[in-house]
Amino acid sequence: MVAGILLEGLLVKLPIISKAENAKERIGVIHVHTKASDGSGTVAEVMAAAEKDNLSFIAITDHNVAMTESEIAEDPPDLPIISGVEVGTSAGHFLALGIPPSWVQPKTKDDRDLLAAARAAGAFRILAHPFHPHTPWTDWKTSDFDGMEIWNEDATWRQNNFFTLLDALLLYGVNDQLALVRLARTPEDNFAKWDELLQQRPVAGICAADTHARIRLGFGRDWRFPGYVPSLKVAREHVLLRPDAGGGNPALASAAEIVDALRNGHSYCGLDSLYPADGFSFHVSSGNASGGPGDFLPWTGAARIQISTPSGASLPLIKIFRDGHEISEEQTRTIDEPITGPGGYRTEVFLRQPGLTGWRRWTLWVFTNPVYVTAQ
Ligand SMILES: [Zn+2]
Ligand SMILES: [Zn+2]
Repeated sequence: MVAGILLEGLLVKLPIISKAENAKERIGVIHVHTKASDGSGTVAEVMAAAEKDNLSFIAITDHNVAMTESEIAEDPPDLPIISGVEVGTSAGHFLALGIPPSWVQPKTKDDRDLLAAARAAGAFRILAHPFHPHTPWTDWKTSDFDGMEIWNEDATWRQNNFFTLLDALLLYGVNDQLALVRLARTPEDNFAKWDELLQQRPVAGICAADTHARIRLGFGRDWRFPGYVPSLKVAREHVLLRPDAGGGNPALASAAEIVDALRNGHSYCGLDSLYPADGFSFHVSSGNASGGPGDFLPWTGAARIQISTPSGASLPLIKIFRDGHEISEEQTRTIDEPITGPGGYRTEVFLRQPGLTGWRRWTLWVFTNPVYVTAQ
């Protein structure tokens, strides 16, 4: 069996992830740890991995410590660092993106006080791994946050059974990209909670890596697993910018512009190690108006939902949700169909696992923020 899995690792070729072709679609990874807290690499090592993986931004979020001005200044113009912190509270963890350098975190564990302090500092606040088996978010009475992690790689791999973990571990040595694809699971709890919150107000949903590149083996020894390079290929947030971003060149959009787009839900998540989702499109059109993820569109009595997927991928399964309820499910590459009324529309798209030991399981590939069609 072991030999079979190793052979499969050598035979299954997953796509190489190249640089984003459309400059208005900035593709980056959110939630990465360095040596400043419990990650194994320096900022320079993380940036080298980000360049190797052709990212167009990266959000570094160490535990309870902000980056310094000089660390942030390490970034090239087409690969900005979003300065972040992962704030630990008595109710769980949240990310504060776009936090000023050297921000001093108040010395409290109270989640309301810390959320308020991050808000006062102008940060985009995202609940981290809200259903993590060890550190879930527990204070659902507060609404003083802007987004939540729907996918968190570090929380997701823990949902697998022993055999899938063993399969991935064996594959990792010969095909690390396939190994991490095997560990992908649909975060049902997160989607359900997100839909519940979306009934009250817009909340941006994002995917996060939560990369540490470190597993503690005891006796002071560490294993650099999963490494930064394979880990930064998995869950990537595709940020959709306006053509005037970056002073007319979106490829040079600043960290602040990217954070602003994320905060407004102008993004979708792609599990790009399965297949690069670049160019995926999800729109609602009504008359001459058209809106993508995060946009608001008035209901005028008729509108169409339009989805198109990158043509090189295998045949996807597309699910459409209206106000948290699934309204359609179809194996197709494109959708263009009428909708029947106002609501928050979002989509989840799945691809089959490659290789024999993936059992052709439908695997979450893309999820988008909603388009809000509002009643007049
Ligand atoms: Zn955490
Ligand atoms: Zn973390």
